[in-house]
Amino acid sequence: MPDLRSKNVRIIAALVLVLLILGLFLILRDSSRLITADQLDILAQKKLITRVVREDPYLYVRTSRMLYRVPVDAVDLKKLGREFPIEIRQKWNLINLGLILLLLMLVGLAVVIYYLSRRDRLESTLRQGSKETYTSAPSEEPLKPTRSKVRFDDVAGSEEVKEDLREIIDFLRHPARYKKFDIRLPKGVLLAGPPGVGKTLMAKAVAGEAKVPFFYQSGANIVEIYVGMGPRRVHELFQAAKKAAPAIIFIDEIDAVGRSRGSLRNEEREATLNQLLTEMDGFESDSGVVVLAATNRMEMLDPALLRPGRFDRRVHLSLPDQQDRRAILELYLKRKAHNVDLEALARSTVGFSAAALSTLVNEAALHALRRGKKVIDQEDFDAVRETVISGKRKILSFSDEERRIQAVYQSGKALVATWLDVPYERIGIVTTRMREADREIISRSEMLARIKVLLAGSAAVEMIFKEQYSNGAEDRALAISEVRRLVREFGSGERLVAGEEEAERLLTELYREVRLMLEKLEEVRKTIEAWLLEHENIGEEEARRILRDLF
Ligand code: ADP
Repeated sequence: MPDLRSKNVRIIAALVLVLLILGLFLILRDSSRLITADQLDILAQKKLITRVVREDPYLYVRTSRMLYRVPVDAVDLKKLGREFPIEIRQKWNLINLGLILLLLMLVGLAVVIYYLSRRDRLESTLRQGSKETYTSAPSEEPLKPTRSKVRFDDVAGSEEVKEDLREIIDFLRHPARYKKFDIRLPKGVLLAGPPGVGKTLMAKAVAGEAKVPFFYQSGANIVEIYVGMGPRRVHELFQAAKKAAPAIIFIDEIDAVGRSRGSLRNEEREATLNQLLTEMDGFESDSGVVVLAATNRMEMLDPALLRPGRFDRRVHLSLPDQQDRRAILELYLKRKAHNVDLEALARSTVGFSAAALSTLVNEAALHALRRGKKVIDQEDFDAVRETVISGKRKILSFSDEERRIQAVYQSGKALVATWLDVPYERIGIVTTRMREADREIISRSEMLARIKVLLAGSAAVEMIFKEQYSNGAEDRALAISEVRRLVREFGSGERLVAGEEEAERLLTELYREVRLMLEKLEEVRKTIEAWLLEHENIGEEEARRILRDLF
């Protein structure tokens, strides 16, 4: 809408300008008729003249109906002067007057345009986001790269993710260096995480930091818009990127293309996915092209995409924790006059994504603006909070009950992980960072422990609420696939070649063990839960301390 409106403003301004110039032209135009001195005499005799003005080189004579002019030299001024008073007007006066008028009008017009467009811009920035870089939609045209102006500084929080991506940036900046040492870098990096946590922003920031062209394409577009052309589109995209290398290709919502090929077969999508795989296999890692892709459903991706040489590096972006939310709020409120306690605001927005926080801030700012306030205060935030949470733009945000469920879930997970020495950075209500096992060889008992951690949340929730919730779905799915893998790779312990029943049996057995463990350690779990409700997440050290103290 704001675009349309500022376009309207421009059209109106142009029209007004044209009208003004036309009007001025009419005013200044000499509309008089030239007559001779004899004709003037006749007018004088007939007593038709009402006014005489001398403005060299003409004498202007007005009758009740017309304006005439006669060259001054041709008239006997003395004689005429006896009958009519001759007013003298200097020509430059009139011109000057016109010029001054024109100038004034122009200035006025400029002020009006400036004011209108400023208000427009202000409103549109308030509506859309706090900064241009956050709102500009990436180019839909896959073959035309954009230059990203986003820097890491524009991405609040997410420090670990930035750290993970720095290597890629360095590689894009100095590809020759890596080539010289024959260092192979990942061709593809998968950014996984819920909607609105900044996957796109992060990809743009990588391009911006590395100062390389940014090719944007969304998976849904490839499949839906370029029906029948998906594979070709993908091919062209890679061609263009290779030509522009070093460059970044960013494929948003890659799950639209790369959903695992199981149940619903879709030839178009499969052909596109195959083309994507072929392209990724086909270029050398030193070609200077890095493919970033975003998904919020990693567990649904076709495993082929995750094989070595494709998207073999994964970066998780989770909902911001309290500290990150504070940083994000600070960024969004930086250039807005406000007087709110950021710490408290961050604490009260558990479950808000960065996108949701941005909406919250903008709505609060609009609320303040509409009430003619000079600064945004807590009241504005309180007033819009509910509408932001439940409004049209549905965002993820936890109610108190959901927070409790999540705290119980994660406390179970943290407890079991700590007890079984499964490494993690932090486990929390909204963010959890396990340490990935980045070795190729892991032991059977290690795998068992990891699976138990995956089951611990569900087990804890079932113990407390006698119910299962959807928040555990991802962990459960992962546990199932890990158990299958374990059975495949290690057998079931009893039999060397094991099938689906063994997996099932093992899973049930592991779940039972976890339940027992949780029942025995309930007090510790409860303490961790309380800690989580207060601090939102817990690190290994803290959990170990609680465990030591209580056990
Ligand atoms: P995703 O791709 O994960 O769905 P986006 O990158 O599109 O999320 O982000 C959604 C909105 O939130 C954008 O306006 C973006 O600028 C903003 N945003 C996301 N993460 C951050 C962050 N860490 N700091 C500042 N703004 C952010």
